[in-house]
Amino acid sequence: MRVFLASVLLFLTLFIQAQDKKYAVVVHGGAGNFNSADFPEEVRNDYNTFFNNLMLYADSLASSGAFAIDIVEAVIVKMEDNPMFNSGKGAVLNAEGKAELDASIMDGRDLNAGAVAGVTEIKNPIKAARMVMDSSAHVMLSGEGANTFARQQGMEMVDNKYFLTQKMIDRYKEYMHDKHGTVGCVVLDIYGNLAAGTSTGGMMMKKWGRIGDSPVIGAGTYADNRYAAVSCTGHGEYFIRNAVAYDVIARMKYAGQSLEEAVNEIIMEVLVQQDANGGLISVDKNGNIVCKMNTTGMFRAWVTENHEIVIEF
Ligand code: ASP
Repeated sequence: MRVFLASVLLFLTLFIQAQDKKYAVVVHGGAGNFNSADFPEEVRNDYNTFFNNLMLYADSLASSGAFAIDIVEAVIVKMEDNPMFNSGKGAVLNAEGKAELDASIMDGRDLNAGAVAGVTEIKNPIKAARMVMDSSAHVMLSGEGANTFARQQGMEMVDNKYFLTQKMIDRYKEYMHDKHGTVGCVVLDIYGNLAAGTSTGGMMMKKWGRIGDSPVIGAGTYADNRYAAVSCTGHGEYFIRNAVAYDVIARMKYAGQSLEEAVNEIIMEVLVQQDANGGLISVDKNGNIVCKMNTTGMFRAWVTENHEIVIEF
């Protein structure tokens, strides 16, 4: 009887502990000067439905004990596969009418990181970034070399046409520069690990093999278990110049700022002074979530251990 009671007690303690564990999964679907009130009802509904399902999926992963790095990858894959965003299928087109994709991922446990830039045949660039991190001696691979690496690793490869949607082809023909929808994810898992990832088609009509901030560790993506995880979106050139993702960490590390103070200063002061558009999502080691943009809009959503889903755009 005593043994039985002891086991019940142990089970209950473990159960309660698991319930207590904090976690947070935060995503963005790009920042820009759009006003969601102008979106047709059905478009608003599509985004709401997509983010709601995505957060249910993220919640099931996080609550069942998945690691932050695995959640980041799994969640971004779903966004890359959805043509609503500027990543994977539905990405913007470069000046030659081709999709050229950038992605990066970082593990806050050991500062390990992986990235691919300017890739044209890898179905899910975020998976390739993870593969570079786990299965190569490098942090960033670009262009044809990255395609070759991915092929050798047995990753799913596609013809560049797979990424093209009629919507993007029409925009390309009309020379429209305005597509936003880079995607990103930051996670605090139940073990206290942080991870971040970002994936994008970059900027419409980009030329000469242009690479943005998204695959650059420290510019578009950063994660350190001791501080925070950050994923950015916006005018990449400015995010590279200001090393935005790492700037948030550095402010916390050297200036003792809170995540909120750090994000406010870099996004709302430093970047604004430079006329640089964009925003970021972040979560610190205590589970504080800060999403901030200096544009009128940014698709964002999150879920935490209380299973409540928040969607804003
Ligand atoms: N940061 C991305 C880039 O410059 C684009 C974006 O987030 O909208 O490539």
